[in-house]
Amino acid sequence: MTQKLFDDGELFEFEATVLSCEEGKKCFQVTLDKTAFFPEGGGQAGDVGTLGDAKVTDTQEKGGIVYHKTDKPLEVGSKVIGKIDENIRLRRMQNHSGEHLLMGFIHGKYGYENVGFHLGKDEVTLDLNGVISYDELLECERQANEAIAKDVKISISYPDDKTLSALEYRSKLENMENVRIVTIEGIDVCACCAPHLSSTGKIGVVKVLTCESYKGGTRVHILCGLDAVAELEKKQAIVKELQKLLSAKPEKIIDFVKKLSDENNELKNKLTDIANAQAESIIASLENESRKSFCVFTDGLDSNALRRIANEGVKLTDGIFGAFNKAANGYSYIIASQNIALRAKSKDINAALGGKGGGSDAMIQGSITADEQAVRAFFEGFEG
Ligand SMILES: [Zn+2]
Repeated sequence: MTQKLFDDGELFEFEATVLSCEEGKKCFQVTLDKTAFFPEGGGQAGDVGTLGDAKVTDTQEKGGIVYHKTDKPLEVGSKVIGKIDENIRLRRMQNHSGEHLLMGFIHGKYGYENVGFHLGKDEVTLDLNGVISYDELLECERQANEAIAKDVKISISYPDDKTLSALEYRSKLENMENVRIVTIEGIDVCACCAPHLSSTGKIGVVKVLTCESYKGGTRVHILCGLDAVAELEKKQAIVKELQKLLSAKPEKIIDFVKKLSDENNELKNKLTDIANAQAESIIASLENESRKSFCVFTDGLDSNALRRIANEGVKLTDGIFGAFNKAANGYSYIIASQNIALRAKSKDINAALGGKGGGSDAMIQGSITADEQAVRAFFEGFEG
């Protein structure tokens, strides 16, 4: 068994003796007589840092032995200084202790349990086995932040069986041996294996970001401490950029965007009306006495208007009719026919006009890069 030193979550440096060092896949697995490195568990990743001049890239536990994954071998029997990456560990503890604190208030008021905890690099989620609204979560968040301001003590203990059986605590596991209890005085008691901060003040801040329905309960996204501040910086940058783009004060941005969206919809409707009128005028001018293949060119029409023109034009030909609308690199097209099966022809048509697209025997659509002159020449020479 490795002696674990991370009951003191703020112990970032320690000295230990190397007990074994074995070469693994592109790494070495080092065990020590004691360690402050936390092995992955309870939703939290394994610690990283250094052992002497070797980098520790992960920490895992098997059967009570803690394995440090290193990039260099260490001499068995030698003394080594272990240093945990303080920034990464601090952020993880802020998020993890923050989660316990928030859960203390959620559990206290609603009785819900956290049945799935994930502490990722950019995301912290907790899955509650009950339904709770965002506003209700915000109320719990406010209480959590008040407890942060009061700097409440957080302690680790290993109660004996008798004490434990009389203790009310949150736990995911049943019938555990040697239960490790994390207590936030007067707020939360929870069985947990991870390192924690020594008081709530060090969490800094708890922020609920979003929540969603999940497996009949609620998945809650949170960030705490320095990660919450980084998130605030990110959001603040977005608000600043919007402020600049819209020349509006932050509190006016929503009204401004709503107004823009309304104006945009009005303009879209006007454009549709114009396109429809243009399509009607093109349809009215269509004539084809010879009943040979022919085509028309338009600009600024949507695919619905183009289809209406194609539906009318096709009635005037025994060959193919094409409606072409100007696009960024050529034209979008709809080609229709009453007599010629277009599906089999579409490959040849696209090849001749530098295009792509397809459809049914009666109608194909897509885009081409050929110019108007080339398209007209193709239609004039088209013979089924
Ligand atoms: Zn925990």
